[in-house]
Amino acid sequence: MSEDKALEPWQWADQQWQKLVNRVRAGRALRPARWKDNARCAVALSFDSDHETNELRDGGKSIGRLGWGQFGSRVGVPRILKVLERHDVRASFYVPAVSALLHPDEQRRVVADGHEIGIHGWIHELNSALPRDAERELMMRSADTLERIAGVRPVGLRTPSWDFSPHTLAIEREMGLIYDSSLMADEDCYELLLDGEPAGVIELPVEWVRDDAVYFMMHRFQSLRPYTPPADVLDVFRREFDAAYEAGGLFQLTMHPHVIGYRSRIWILEEIIRHARSKPDVWFGTHAEVVDWAKRHAA
Ligand SMILES: [Zn+2]
Repeated sequence: MSEDKALEPWQWADQQWQKLVNRVRAGRALRPARWKDNARCAVALSFDSDHETNELRDGGKSIGRLGWGQFGSRVGVPRILKVLERHDVRASFYVPAVSALLHPDEQRRVVADGHEIGIHGWIHELNSALPRDAERELMMRSADTLERIAGVRPVGLRTPSWDFSPHTLAIEREMGLIYDSSLMADEDCYELLLDGEPAGVIELPVEWVRDDAVYFMMHRFQSLRPYTPPADVLDVFRREFDAAYEAGGLFQLTMHPHVIGYRSRIWILEEIIRHARSKPDVWFGTHAEVVDWAKRHAA
């Protein structure tokens, strides 16, 4: 890869940019004609329980920001679980291993309530910044830690910050993971290709548009501020759902307990569930269930 540095991108030989682009690619789209229970549309809700790792991941030591992370576990998750229970919805929670070690009872409750727990790194590290061996070891240690705490072996990975290294997919394949949920090449589930060949791992795609953090995050000492009112965030999510319902596709959302879990925002979750439930033929599944269905029933 030394030629990367030697040459500017406009000087690259065709094979150089081709190799980069083709390392991980979307293959066959997996959209079933009907979803489970003959549903027209599938809804996959997810929550990234980053909690204190939101601060720890960059080596931060702010007591204040760690307290904010604790809010995610102390108030955010119970509030979310209550809404999900009220509407009989099962969802997926992606949990950094350090977060699970800090809050083991939370993970056990999430599983006891029927939800899925997936891998979300060790301490919310960026995969692309790691040597391959460190990434592999952390991913395996994270899976073992979640299994030990929650009692269920995770089958899916959401990379922290959706950051994907050139090695991530090969490691997922080696670990026998069924799916990934970190990439955004489509709105339907799709097969992931590694250097042009199906890797045997299915992508359940995410999108910044369908992520609460994009609209609500704030940093006291940087210029980052929330810029979208909660009602407008619901409007974006609802339009995403309505179009997915029209198309007979998949509606996926990513939320964070320390972001959506506030009194002025939690209603967005409740409202989008109510809206989806108001239509006939909508199936709510965990990410693992949605992937499993899409894989077995793709047209
Ligand atoms: Zn995260």
